[in-house]
Amino acid sequence: MENKTECRKCHRDISDCEARVVCRGDCAGMFHSKCVGLEKEILDAIAESENVVWMCEPCVDWFRAFREVVIKMLHVQQSNGQAQSK
Ligand SMILES: [Zn+2]
Ligand SMILES: [Zn+2]
Repeated sequence: MENKTECRKCHRDISDCEARVVCRGDCAGMFHSKCVGLEKEILDAIAESENVVWMCEPCVDWFRAFREVVIKMLHVQQSNGQAQSK
């Protein structure tokens, strides 16, 4: 069974004493917090609030692109709806 605690950035194991952060995006990867430049304050904020999520860069890029597609789709639907209701 695979139980990987390998940092996706540096590809080294994350030991228990090291601060880590889990991507809440599609990859769900684990990272050393120092590898992704997160300060302790930010880590605390992520741990303390369910509203604060962290995503790695590829996932953020993907999420942004996805969001734009959805927004465009919604706009198309809205304008179609307006045209039909006339
Ligand atoms: Zn690392
Ligand atoms: Zn990710």
